[in-house]
Amino acid sequence: ESEEIFRSMSNAAQDAILMINDDGAIVYWNNAAVKIYGYSSEEAIGKNLHRLLAPERYRAGQEKVFARFRETGEGSLIGKISEIKSLRKDGTEFPIELSLSAVKIKGRWNAIAIVRDITERKRSEETLLQLATTDALTGIFNRRYLNASLETELKRAQRYRTPLALILFDIDQFKRINDIFGHPVGDLVLKHMADLVREKIREHDIFARWGGEEFVILVPNNGSDGARKLAEKLRGEIEKYHFPEVNTVTCGFGVTALQPDDKAENLLKRTDEALYKAKKMGRNRVEVS
Ligand code: GH3
Ligand code: MG
Ligand code: MG
Repeated sequence: ESEEIFRSMSNAAQDAILMINDDGAIVYWNNAAVKIYGYSSEEAIGKNLHRLLAPERYRAGQEKVFARFRETGEGSLIGKISEIKSLRKDGTEFPIELSLSAVKIKGRWNAIAIVRDITERKRSEETLLQLATTDALTGIFNRRYLNASLETELKRAQRYRTPLALILFDIDQFKRINDIFGHPVGDLVLKHMADLVREKIREHDIFARWGGEEFVILVPNNGSDGARKLAEKLRGEIEKYHFPEVNTVTCGFGVTALQPDDKAENLLKRTDEALYKAKKMGRNRVEVS
């Protein structure tokens, strides 16, 4: 009777429920497991779980952990919920949420796994993260992401005493571009600008649209010399670039480097002051503050 109850409960479950014996062989496989993995219970029962469901690169590691489990009933994933990768019958890899528990039957350790397919959840998490951190027009990071990164990089730089610099730049006389060519062309210029700059910076530099026609680059491991050189290089590249819609565009740059006890707002304020100076001194130039 109790087996009937268990079977009907487990077959109504949305999650895969499976059990392995101390040889690592699958001894129980519910309906959801069939649906998620694509193996019928005839195909799954008796097979080694790790060989059947673990992606190759994790297999040796999991088998090692399992060897200890069968002796002790303990393991790094036992009694917890973990996110790992698993393998379907058709060879595709997918993310799962795994809860594992140990049960001793007739002196031998068995493991019961509840497996949730989290493919959709992961996908929507990624989409949300992407939406929350990217600027829709240019595809580069947005102000929110830059602010968060600035806090992180600031802490890192202060802790390890490494340099950190910030560059703020703004398109010169952008209002005129909008006025002469129209707002949609202004938008295209912003996109081209983002593409152009993105290609010229390093992987660790964090490039964001700060708002309107202002952009920020957070430059880890560089002081004001390195950042000024980068800004100067970008200024030159932008100046000589042929923007298809409007020909030439220039930018003013403000640069600053981290000083002891700086807060994010100090850095931002100094780049703003430097940029203001670059504008006042005639635009298309770099100023360090
Ligand atoms: P300056 O050389 O002093 O920087 O002059 P500017 O004309 O660039 O100065 P300002 O910062 O006052 O003008 C920015 C203009 O950018 C005003 C605004 O209409 C325009 N703008 C802001 N966001 C967008 C956008 O997303 N698309 C377009 N096309 N224009 C934008
Ligand atoms: Mg401007
Ligand atoms: Mg501006």
